[in-house]
Amino acid sequence: MPPETISLLDACGVDAGYGTMQVLWGVDLDVRAGETVLLLGANGAGKTTFLKSLVGLIEARHGSIKLGGEDVTRTRSSDRMKRGMTYMSELAVFPDLSIEENIRVGAQALGHADPGARVEELYGLFPVLRDKRRAAASSLSGGQRKMLGIAKALAAEPKLLVMDEPSAGLSPLFVKEVIRILSELRGRGLALLIAEQNIGFLEVATRVFVLEGGRIKFSGTVAEMTDNEALRRAYFGLK
Ligand code: ATP
Repeated sequence: MPPETISLLDACGVDAGYGTMQVLWGVDLDVRAGETVLLLGANGAGKTTFLKSLVGLIEARHGSIKLGGEDVTRTRSSDRMKRGMTYMSELAVFPDLSIEENIRVGAQALGHADPGARVEELYGLFPVLRDKRRAAASSLSGGQRKMLGIAKALAAEPKLLVMDEPSAGLSPLFVKEVIRILSELRGRGLALLIAEQNIGFLEVATRVFVLEGGRIKFSGTVAEMTDNEALRRAYFGLK
């Protein structure tokens, strides 16, 4: 079977919220092996809430979440990580820990006594982090901190990396650098689910889901999205 036809993640009819407030309404989304899926939506659309329900940080009140065909809707976050799904939040790193300590924390999910080889491999991908390995994460620039966040998430050797707004707080130049790194990771076969409001990430996406008011309003390929006049107007400002 070609890798892109194997379903890594299947979310079906997910409802979630906080207390009496329902935020997500029947959200369906899937990611196949090696795919890059963009979850596009404005502030408050429910992107973070959805990602947190996928990775088990908040409960899905209805619906189901499957990883590699196995139902994980009621399992712990650590179980989902062991099954190959790693979450990178907007903050992504522990500022008081050193760069190397952050990466080692990320590798804990592997359960290796010494993740040294994996750490070295990641320094190969992000040489700037090797140069500063003993410095506190708080001493890094915003862009470097994002690189560390990605390295920390990759340390767990995920099959699927779930990222919450990797562009948040970055200058346009660093956003381009993050997009370049994500393209490289995609080339290595990693599947990505990226929640964003920055349409620059369409460049790396194979499919797009648009979330509005906690509901999926569109799903399809990037070409299908750009062919849709209403979406073009809303997201590209084109008439
Ligand atoms: P942003 O880009 O601003 O992070 P988002 O699309 O990720 O937006 P969410 O953060 O999921 O959206 O927020 C969706 C809704 O849920 C918003 O109305 C928000 O105010 C609300 N919300 C988010 N977190 C909580 C919380 N911990 N308690 C109560 N309401 C929350």
